[in-house]
Parts: sequence; structure tokens; C-alpha cells
Amino acid sequence: MKPSGLHLLLTYLCTYECDHCFVWGSPRQQGTMTLADLREIFRQARSVPSVKTIYFEGGEPFLYYPILVKGVEEAARQGFQVGIVTNAYWATSVEDAREYLRPLAGKVGDLSLSSDLYHADELLSAQAQRATNAADGLGIPSGVITIPQPGEADGLRCRGRAAEVLTGRVPLHPWEEFTTCPFEDLRAPGRVHVDPLGNVHICQGISLGNIFKNDLANICEDYKAEQHPLIAPLLDGGPAELSTRYDVPREEKYADACHLCYQTRLALRDRFPQTLAPDQVYGIFEASQ
Ligand code: SF4
Repeated sequence: MKPSGLHLLLTYLCTYECDHCFVWGSPRQQGTMTLADLREIFRQARSVPSVKTIYFEGGEPFLYYPILVKGVEEAARQGFQVGIVTNAYWATSVEDAREYLRPLAGKVGDLSLSSDLYHADELLSAQAQRATNAADGLGIPSGVITIPQPGEADGLRCRGRAAEVLTGRVPLHPWEEFTTCPFEDLRAPGRVHVDPLGNVHICQGISLGNIFKNDLANICEDYKAEQHPLIAPLLDGGPAELSTRYDVPREEKYADACHLCYQTRLALRDRFPQTLAPDQVYGIFEASQ
């Protein structure tokens, strides 16, 4: 595996509890990276030559603003391209947003602002508009990430909280139809997520290893998609094959491939506790760090 990007879940905490959130972001969540964690992650990332980009996301990374700023500075100084994904809750005025963003100018190459009807009453929230204006003024490239509502255009994926909350609002399809993973390159992922507990996620909730126990370089080197107990069935026949191979009880119909995949994984957690981790991504908030 030669990922070009590491997407760091700086924290599982968020100001919101959006219905579509893959990682169950919430003010009630637990798990935040420390500066020491970030230094260790950067050290390991430098030993994987394919890694060029580091994103800071969450949860909501601006909740730990000094750590975010320090992390961005350090990642940029070490030669990584840097991005941030945020809901812009902090952009209470353009002037104030400018102060939040000023220390990041010249270091962040992409400021992605989550704005849609999950985050606000309008597609482009006032916070996102103010953050965009401030970013423009400082020369920070920015864009808006918008997730559609159920029944709208493609783009909604029913995993994480979406698998629990949104599936009652979308058309369902027979489980046998979900014979591929349409959304992730499971054979050769271009990016992986790293969470505050050290889990390296190929898709949220499928951990390939823990970088606080095994170096990222080893995890990348050791990854063999065709031999992985969960990825191999997904490659062979998608979530339908995963469900069949492990004889997981199921419903007749699901919203999408991710819905069947997520519910199947939920049922398999006791069998694959290291891989189907952590609790946070399966909506269990009481987990200890
Ligand atoms: S089908 Fe499964 S592995 Fe693929 S993107 Fe959806 S949840 Fe992830």
C-alpha cells in the first residue's frame, strides 16, 4: 500500500452531531491527538515516501486550535502539503475568522469547509461564507464540501451515524445487489485516516493496524488486500459477499453498499475486535482512550 495522503482525525469531538457523519462526531465523543502524537505520526509519515499530504480533520479540528496550528506549522515545515476540513463554527465574523486563519496562511493549501443542510439551515452557511471571505483575503485556497440530503443526487453514503439515522429516508434495495465497494480503492488506497487512538482506517471503522504499536511503514508494507479477512471478501463480492462469507444475519434490503457493509461489520466486531475499531466509529461514546 502506498497512500499519498494521511487524513488525521485530530479529534472525534465535534460541535455538531450531523446525521450523515461517518465517524459519529459529537460533543459527547472522546479521543483527541496530542502534540506528541502528531510528532510521532509525522516521524512515521516521513518514512513512507508515498505520503505527500496531511489533512487535519475530525470531528472538528478547530476545537483544539493551538494543537491544530502547531500541527499545521510542523507538517508544513517538514515538507508535507497540508489541508484542513472544518465546519467553520469559529467564523463568527470575517474579521474574527481572519484571526483564526492568519497563522495558517502560507501553510495550508486547502481549507475545506463542510456546509450543507446537515450543518445549517442553508446550503452555504453564514460561517462558511465568512470563512471563505477570510481565506480569500489571506490567499488560502478554500472550497466547500456539501453532502446531499436523502433522496437527492448521489453523494450520501450510509455508514457511521448515517447507517443508523438516514436509512429510513432513502429507497432500499435487495442486499444481493451490493456486490462491490463503490467508494474506496480497497486494493490500493490513495489515502488512509489515522485516528487519535492510532488506528489506520482504510474506510472508517476498518483498521489496518495501530501506528502507536506498529510503524506506518510496516502497516503499509504488510497490507495484502487479497489476504485480509475483511477486505478480501469485499473485493471478491462487496458487502454482500462479506455478509455471506461470515454468515451474518441480515435484512432483505439496504440503502446502499455502505449500509450493508456497516451493519455487517457491526455484527462482526466481536470476531475482529482489532480490525473493526474503535468503538467511537461504531457509535459507542463511552470508550476510553
Ligand atoms: S462498502 Fe464498506 S468498505 Fe466500501 S466505502 Fe462503503 S463502508 Fe467503506
